[in-house]
Amino acid sequence: DSMQIVEAFRKEVFSQGIEDKIDIVRTGCFGLCELGPVVIIYPEEVFYSRVSVKDVAEIVEQHLLGGKIVDRLVYRQAMEDGRIKPLHNVDFFRKQRRIALRNCGTIDPEEIDEYIGMDGYRALHKVLTTMEPLDVISQVKEAGLRGRGGGGFPTGIKWETAAKQHNPHKYMICNADEGDPGAFMDRSILEGDPHSVLEGMAIAGYAIGANHGFIYLRAEYPIAVKRVQAAIKQAREYGLLGEDIFGSGFSFDISVRLGAGAFVCGEETALMNSVEGKRGMPNPKPPFPAVSGLWGKPTVINNVETLANVPIILLQGARWYAGIGTERSKGTKVFALGGKVVNTGLVEVPMGITLREVIYEIGGGIPNGKAFKAVQTGGPSGGCLTSEHLDRPIDYDTLLSLGSMMGSGGMLVMDEGTCMVDVARYYLDFTRDESCGKCAPCRIGTKRLLEILERITEGKGTMEDLDTLEELSEQIKAASLCGLGQTAPNPVLSTLKYFRDEYIAHVIDKK
Ligand code: SF4
Repeated sequence: DSMQIVEAFRKEVFSQGIEDKIDIVRTGCFGLCELGPVVIIYPEEVFYSRVSVKDVAEIVEQHLLGGKIVDRLVYRQAMEDGRIKPLHNVDFFRKQRRIALRNCGTIDPEEIDEYIGMDGYRALHKVLTTMEPLDVISQVKEAGLRGRGGGGFPTGIKWETAAKQHNPHKYMICNADEGDPGAFMDRSILEGDPHSVLEGMAIAGYAIGANHGFIYLRAEYPIAVKRVQAAIKQAREYGLLGEDIFGSGFSFDISVRLGAGAFVCGEETALMNSVEGKRGMPNPKPPFPAVSGLWGKPTVINNVETLANVPIILLQGARWYAGIGTERSKGTKVFALGGKVVNTGLVEVPMGITLREVIYEIGGGIPNGKAFKAVQTGGPSGGCLTSEHLDRPIDYDTLLSLGSMMGSGGMLVMDEGTCMVDVARYYLDFTRDESCGKCAPCRIGTKRLLEILERITEGKGTMEDLDTLEELSEQIKAASLCGLGQTAPNPVLSTLKYFRDEYIAHVIDKK
């Protein structure tokens, strides 16, 4: 366990009398979950993987004292001809571009000084002392930042709408209710670099004219909760949250609200109902939250990753950010790469990179010599893509046009042994379970879809079932009240479109 390894290093370094020469920094996730726990020795960037407590004494004695690398622990991709490669040249990192994750895995998330040492809160200082709120919004618009929580709505336009409302009370909310199965992007950012999100929220608050923000965070993320609360406390102590920040006259503070794990509370209106203490159920839109949101006040809701991008955009400039990515999808996107792929973990890539580059170059391909079959992007709201899509760019519009979506960033790879009907059944089981029940198309429709899928996987389906699946899916999409129901049939429709032969085989085989 990582904490035991940290403790073992502290003890060993102390017993060797080198505690003044060695800094031991406990960080958040560095991305390569597959290989954890990871220990990186700087400045030479030696990357030790799958380290255990019993390896610590050897690393200290042989490497830190003796200057000799412990070969058996070095990550194999980090070696080339017996020499250590710099981390940015390791396959897993070579094609990545870490902007939202810039500090994750490098700084101690519980020490505000480490964030400040990485230019943290400089953007907030710049904004509060040299920029007008409208200039901030212009920069975010020009950067082309779009919401990373799934919808991809332009962040600057959301801010502008809220800023235009003449209301003395406005709110800023960070949506940290990450609920897609297999997704852990927001969790890693909050665990690894919570101040980047706080800084992003304070900048957004200034831009729209809000003095209070809420972080709506899943209670199932106890480490993230602890680190966010510690970060808020430290930021207050440093005068970076609270009254009159940097003597600018602008005041902003943040509270944490814990969500109980309902997937639907990631939907903006359900989230706000939950923050208000009501049952977390969606409301019809309009009115949009930027006009009438929390307690009827103009409210901007941004996702964790979106907010982590904000400080660096303001610091480096909109043009710099807009220079990364594609025409309509700027910047980078963080994905939780999982399933049947060699290097599972958290990756951040420039928009426009192809699925092949992510799965084969960063992900290391499919393990055990098996063939690639499909990749699901967008979690339960997204769809399955096939080998014919491997060379298509990853951006909001391309994924939508292929019947999937960017979503919050789950990317699940499947090999030739995966049954695609079962994949659709799995996701439908999830959305049916998470449907809040407010509207009939979703409440009843997902149940009926699931029954049909179960019938087919049990070998009791008919060809007519395939038509019913399609028809019902379209009706649920068209008639559901919120995004959960509107996107729930996507895994069914995309697997029917690209893997219809598998559905037919299930139906025919029974005969
Ligand atoms: Fe609830 Fe589903 Fe209707 Fe959304 S679509 S309001 S989750 S029943």
